[in-house]
Amino acid sequence: MGCMLIDPSQKYKPYTPLKLDDRTWPTKTFTKAPIWLSTDLRDGNQALANPMTADQKLTFFRLLVKSGFKEIEIAYPAASDTEFAFVRYLIEHNEIPDDVWIQVLTPAREELITRTFEAVAGAKHVIIHMYNATCPMFRDVVFKNSKEQTIGLAVRHTILVRDLTDQYAASHGTTFRYEYSPETFSQTEVQFSVAICDAVKTAWAKAGTGNERIIFNLPATVEVGPPNHYADQIEYFCTHISEREKIVVSLHPHNDRGTGIAAAELAVLAGADRIEGCLFGNGERTGNVDIVNLALNLYTQGIPPRLDFSDIQSVIDIVTKCNDILIHPRHPYAGELVFTAFSGSHQDAVKKGFEEQAERHARNLASGEPQMWDMPYLPLDPADLGCSYEAVIRVNSQSGKGGIAYLVKQHLHLDLPRKMQIAFYQVIQKISDREAREMTVEDITTAFRNTYYFGGPKYEGRLALKSFSVTVEASPEPLGTDEAPDERRRFDGTVSVDGMLRVIRGDGNGPISSLLDAIRTHLDIDLTLREYSEHTIGVGENAKAASYIELVATTDNVKETRSASQSWWGVGVDSDIAASGLRAVLSAVNSAIGDRPLPELKLNVGFDSPMCQADIANALVNSLKLQLPRRFQPSFFEVVQRAARDSGGQISYEDLTQLFQDTYGYETETAKQCRFELQSFDFAKSSVAGRRQITAELLVDGEVRSVSGEGNGPLSAALAALHTQISGTLSIREYTEHSVGEGAEVKAVSFVELVYEVEGKTKKESAWGVSSDSDITASGLQAVMKAASSLNVVTSKSA
Ligand SMILES: [Zn+2]
Repeated sequence: MGCMLIDPSQKYKPYTPLKLDDRTWPTKTFTKAPIWLSTDLRDGNQALANPMTADQKLTFFRLLVKSGFKEIEIAYPAASDTEFAFVRYLIEHNEIPDDVWIQVLTPAREELITRTFEAVAGAKHVIIHMYNATCPMFRDVVFKNSKEQTIGLAVRHTILVRDLTDQYAASHGTTFRYEYSPETFSQTEVQFSVAICDAVKTAWAKAGTGNERIIFNLPATVEVGPPNHYADQIEYFCTHISEREKIVVSLHPHNDRGTGIAAAELAVLAGADRIEGCLFGNGERTGNVDIVNLALNLYTQGIPPRLDFSDIQSVIDIVTKCNDILIHPRHPYAGELVFTAFSGSHQDAVKKGFEEQAERHARNLASGEPQMWDMPYLPLDPADLGCSYEAVIRVNSQSGKGGIAYLVKQHLHLDLPRKMQIAFYQVIQKISDREAREMTVEDITTAFRNTYYFGGPKYEGRLALKSFSVTVEASPEPLGTDEAPDERRRFDGTVSVDGMLRVIRGDGNGPISSLLDAIRTHLDIDLTLREYSEHTIGVGENAKAASYIELVATTDNVKETRSASQSWWGVGVDSDIAASGLRAVLSAVNSAIGDRPLPELKLNVGFDSPMCQADIANALVNSLKLQLPRRFQPSFFEVVQRAARDSGGQISYEDLTQLFQDTYGYETETAKQCRFELQSFDFAKSSVAGRRQITAELLVDGEVRSVSGEGNGPLSAALAALHTQISGTLSIREYTEHSVGEGAEVKAVSFVELVYEVEGKTKKESAWGVSSDSDITASGLQAVMKAASSLNVVTSKSA
């Protein structure tokens, strides 16, 4: 069994450096992309354990054409019938675009050259690629040829190729170019390589400029020296070959030392015009040079590579399927992990980089400057290759809060405050430790939704905001004379509590403190706000507000409350900024209460307090889904109190609901007839712009009358029509509506409070009407009629 030598110089000899005193390549820079030749279908295919099927070769060929290759080595046609047939297929099925040159390989042997020409008969543009090995090892050991014999072989067969190109150009109209490879160039004395190529050029005798240039392909068949040595060899060749302007100098690097890319790049600086390679570096042993890698290296230097990998994943899919070789996860540009940062410090830098870049790009856009890519750890914008940013940041046990916050921002558009980032990071750490695996984006966003009850009904917590209003009221306390009166806020809303709707109410100096007051009063949850922040998401009409709230348990000591070690974070998003803050409060409250029991809904009519009114409102919102307007509540409360007086201050839910329906004639089957009822109505536009005109059949105290009226809207038009039948004036003090039910079942509920004034009565009278209908206008009009019917309206005699 062998082992590594202590002194490897006893076994391996180093390369012999070229003495090149005036080399220029080290100070050169890239200015344009070289000519690319893909040899995936020839060199790459030859190296596969299972060479491609005809179908796979065709798929691959189409991919190369689509990617922008103009020169494609498609086969070694004399090697097998399969290879030969593939060339024929492409030609006979018109698969080769007019601007694409196919290239075919042949060794310097007469019958194989002849067979090669038979394969390409009828193609438009063909590069015949002939090679023979030139290095001492092959000359002396394999073929036992002298230098002269080696040159003689190349010259003789070049003349044959020349004759056949003349013949096939005449018979088939094909345009030919000739490529000659001194195979094993990198192991050949460079002076001999120049000599043999000069002799081949003379034998070819047709080298010109432009498309008539002869291609000398100089392979690092085996990579045996460092890349600077290959560059020296190429520079020597370029400066010593005659008629350089009639030559395309082509490279064909392999990757035995892992420096194929470097060798190709330095050799281009040394004067080469063209590179032969394979996608993702397939090929014998360590592979041919990777053309995707080379092209994208140029791209990230701002040089158009003249190859398109905008959808690199589809390229990877096709290539890996055809080659049956996977791409290493850390392969440059193409590996699954190459745009990924796992470590916390990298993630943090990337997150900050993206934020800074977004601002910089906005400024560039405004001033018309280019939006340059400049990011820590990311030499290329993954989006240019059709990759999303999803993979940029991935979370394992080495990751930090920055990366997680970044993912939340990317996927949920939430820019978490610093302290909340820490809190959520701990949540993720716990899950990551428990599951001992990498967390996916999906894992993280789901954990976020679950933790903060965020993102729709599926993630709703025990408490959820259904509707609310915040009103401003002047402070009841008298203040110093110089100060402006302190405005207080009142929160009034419907909150779902463990599935039951509850109407709650509270006061504070802002919406958030009023909601905290409301849940303290009604639900016995006593929490204090410690931190609040907000930002907008999106722009223009679709902009939303995101609010973040930190709550702590209230204690007797304010200082102690502020410095509590335990806190709960919440987040809320809404188009209305106040609503987003309120949602954030409930998000944090849900975390704070866990599963502790909450006070149950009770109904107690005995006390004349807002609590009782709220209880009654609670009962109706649950039984009839009605959200009574606040000013409506005391009015119905009086009715309830009157009814409950007879039963000792107690009333059941059922009786309460029935009482409401009877009192307002709301959705009852046994409704008594009202004094005013609409039998039918019709609207027309008035001659005055913006006004509406109603004509209706109105039942007035049991008598049908045709009426009409005009107003700014349906309700005022209906009042005008009513006024033709009554003495005095009816006016609307309040009108609200909301919908009940869903989908086809949805209907509108309208609440109207009417005020009645008539001569002879000093006191104004007011009454509420409530009605529902699938048509919102009808619902409003019926509510008006019901309110009018409850008032002591004096009717005028019919005309
Ligand atoms: Zn090769």
